[in-house]
Amino acid sequence: MDRAILEQALADAGEPSYRVSQVWEWVGRGVRAYEEMTNLPLALRERLAAEVPLSTLSVRTEARSDDGTVKALFDTADERPVEAVLMRYRDGRRSVCVSSQSGCPLTCTFCATGQMKFGRNLSADEILDQALHFRRIEEIDHVVFMGMGEPTMNIGAVLAACELLPDLGVTHRRTAISTVGWVPGIDRLAECEMPVSLALSLHAPNDGLRSQLMPVNDRYPLAEVLAACDRYRARRRRKVFVEYVMLDGINDLPEHARELAALLDPRVYKVNLIPYNPTGAYDGSPPERIERFRSILAEHRLAATVRLTRGRDIDAACGQLAAASPTA
Ligand code: SAH
Repeated sequence: MDRAILEQALADAGEPSYRVSQVWEWVGRGVRAYEEMTNLPLALRERLAAEVPLSTLSVRTEARSDDGTVKALFDTADERPVEAVLMRYRDGRRSVCVSSQSGCPLTCTFCATGQMKFGRNLSADEILDQALHFRRIEEIDHVVFMGMGEPTMNIGAVLAACELLPDLGVTHRRTAISTVGWVPGIDRLAECEMPVSLALSLHAPNDGLRSQLMPVNDRYPLAEVLAACDRYRARRRRKVFVEYVMLDGINDLPEHARELAALLDPRVYKVNLIPYNPTGAYDGSPPERIERFRSILAEHRLAATVRLTRGRDIDAACGQLAAASPTA
């Protein structure tokens, strides 16, 4: 919801200022219509229904995976595509993956979003509206900024959205921001008061390979990125999650695992190995190779888990968001 429009409409209607939080409280609880806001006068509900849309986004298509994952493709008011994904886990966890930008200005070679045209930064309201879309379906408890875009390049809107996520039932500790290693963004997160978690998309244990896979590494090379993560750890006292996509024959060999173990201090980092989701550019590592990689890290006392893949059949998995999926 565009909260500026809401505030203006309430002011124009001569309503007391507490109405803003009254309406927002209902919105955060996932109501689908002003009718349901029973502590507002009927005439006001009707007026707001006519003047203030409940969302800044309209749904273009929605796809459902066999594993329960739901992907929504939205349009902003100026017709920029935005995707978000609801992941449902067996333990009951409900996690929403949101986009911070329409498209992405970076060009990581394995990621479909990087291949599409960059649109623009999303506003805090447009980010919240992605989570609210799913909140209207069911309660949610986690939000990850792992959809389209680089959250740290739109950090103001991202942090403004984070501030309001508890109103939707998502605590700061259950909110994670993922970055390619944009150093000023990591520093902003280290300084922010909210205890949101930081995830670093690393994907390679040395500069040569990382620059090949992620051109942004030329701007912020490994040493600078890891120094920023150390500052984050020192300040926040929280570990950094390292994401490492497993590409067959490229970055998944035992020597890469050993190099990674030598690079990362186990007191600062935990590793999450991501099975590659096909985008055309590479082949994914076979499961045995992923397991071998994980066990080498473990031998060096570096904690590592393998990410559960969700929604691959509807192009909703990591790196597959490109606003071009079939309708289902
Ligand atoms: N721009 C941020 C936020 C996106 S998070 C970042 O890169 O961290 C999306 C995660 O999925 C990142 O870790 C990204 O590297 C990873 N990813 C991208 N393409 C992928 C693919 N094809 N298969 C698996 N993971 C992928």
